[in-house]
Amino acid sequence: MTLAAPANGDVSLLRLQNIEKSFGSLKVLQGISVEVARGEVVAIIGGSGSGKSTLLRCVNLMERPSAGRIEFGNFVADFDGNRKTIIGEERLRQLRTQIGMVFQSYNLWPHKTVMENVMCAPMLVKGVSRRDAAGQAEQLLDRIGLAQRRNHYPFQLSGGQQQRVAIVRALAMQPKAMLFDEVTSALDPELVGEVLGLMAELANEGMTMLIVTHEIAFARDVSSRTLFFDRGVIAESGPSRDVLRNPQSERMRQFLSRVLHESY
Ligand code: ADP
Ligand code: MG
Repeated sequence: MTLAAPANGDVSLLRLQNIEKSFGSLKVLQGISVEVARGEVVAIIGGSGSGKSTLLRCVNLMERPSAGRIEFGNFVADFDGNRKTIIGEERLRQLRTQIGMVFQSYNLWPHKTVMENVMCAPMLVKGVSRRDAAGQAEQLLDRIGLAQRRNHYPFQLSGGQQQRVAIVRALAMQPKAMLFDEVTSALDPELVGEVLGLMAELANEGMTMLIVTHEIAFARDVSSRTLFFDRGVIAESGPSRDVLRNPQSERMRQFLSRVLHESY
């Protein structure tokens, strides 16, 4: 087992040890071990069905690992296939408020305005006052140039705008880390750049991020490390500049040439 460890020796914010996940007889994750340092940006690439989304969902326990250990800040949970690990509601809530997640489909609440979408979770989950939530939401929307759209509904925005609102909605919880699952895959090509641009800004500001993406140039420029998933294992990993330019394994080479060709 190779432990994909942060290069700079910093204290880890997230540590996954030997994470396994099965759905019935289908073993989707076969022992994933990763450490992510505070402020580090890690890209996850790999073919469809290789377990990338399942891993992200295990990190914030939307999916419960079959085995392994998750450490995130002070949070620790061990999973053992033979007995059920009990995690109290409050610990689960704390973990989830500290980890923001954005998906491929924007998942904004369609019947709420842009402003309400951004204000909602801090008020409901963290007990932030309406006034403070509104102040923060305005700042966040201003940052992405959508302050004037605050009273619009999601359907009145472009896909790129909706996805940027989804990102700042997650930021409104002031998370310690952000998980991105193919957030540009459903966008028209001309809208991809504005979303990747916002993610690159967050990376520059020191946000800890795990990014599942097919945007290889973005992964190379923005992430410090890349993990290549193949059939539930990390088949290759290393500094993004090296492994994305010069993959060592035949499978990763094939995968990269496939995705790079698809973009033409
Ligand atoms: P990726 O994100 O790399 O495309 P996923 O993590 O979504 O891969 O899925 C990995 C495998 O697990 C796939 O074969 C998928 O069909 C299966 N899978 C994912 N979620 C479930 C589920 N809730 N129930 C059954 N099978 C699932
Ligand atoms: Mg996926």
